[in-house]
Amino acid sequence: MRCSVCSKEAILELPVYKKRLCAEHYVQWYYEKTRDFTKKLTRPGDKIALAISGGKDSLALAVFFSQYQREFDVDVFMFHIDLGIPGSSQEARKVVEKFSRDLGMELYVYDLKKELGRSLPEFRKGSRPPCSVCGIIKRYLMNRIPRELGANKLATGHNLDDQVENFFKNWLSQHWDWIAKQKPILPGQGKLLTRIKPLFERTEKENTMYLVAHGYDLPGYKCRYSQPAKWKPIVEMIENEHPGFKLAMIKSIERFDYPVSTQELGECKVCGEPTSQEVCAFCKILGLNK
Ligand code: SF4
Ligand code: ZN
Ligand code: ZN
Repeated sequence: MRCSVCSKEAILELPVYKKRLCAEHYVQWYYEKTRDFTKKLTRPGDKIALAISGGKDSLALAVFFSQYQREFDVDVFMFHIDLGIPGSSQEARKVVEKFSRDLGMELYVYDLKKELGRSLPEFRKGSRPPCSVCGIIKRYLMNRIPRELGANKLATGHNLDDQVENFFKNWLSQHWDWIAKQKPILPGQGKLLTRIKPLFERTEKENTMYLVAHGYDLPGYKCRYSQPAKWKPIVEMIENEHPGFKLAMIKSIERFDYPVSTQELGECKVCGEPTSQEVCAFCKILGLNK
């Protein structure tokens, strides 16, 4: 398989874009595509926190921004939450620290055990599944801490595959407002940071190959609580029959015209962070609502 540009050996084929690319031309193609998309989400002078879990997508996001920040006058830093999950959290933290050193990018680590006295497994209470507790903790901290560090935007590594899978789940449960919230930019209000998804049109495979093309070893750890993605095999089956299906879906989500709730958020009476309830979900799981 030869590169469509220079005829060196290609590292991957992109049927949707009718291209086969070598490592050098793939890095260039990925950067240009993602840059053109990200330009719509950022402004010069932005201070952007990158939510870096240590998974492949988030690491690709960091590598992409190490170049983008120089070209577009934005200031970025990596933000990582060490959840204290035995095995995977230590591994993830090591990898994130290595990327921070390699890319020369500032890193802020929030260590749950150190800051709150409890790791994620120690938070589990009653019948609430660990991913639900984890989601509440991450949503809260990824807004509060980067904001306190001076960020005005938070960038996450959500990829095209995640978005299509979430779309199906939200569509089947008729959560139209959740689909509207899948858009690549969600403007902030008050203490809520603006959230952006620069990898909205990039597949998981494209992100993985972006790291490979840069010569990085791929992280192999997996969170002990992760569940198999039910919709992925079905979506892949359709994509194989109709290349371009996932990209067409994502472009429809981008244009999905359903009003995102503009309900004014109040402030949690315990911590002062934005919430629609008297006490926010984070304070409740910390047991501060008594
Ligand atoms: Fe958190 Fe669940 Fe992801 Fe593990 S799999 S990091 S518990 S959301
Ligand atoms: Zn080439
Ligand atoms: Zn609170």
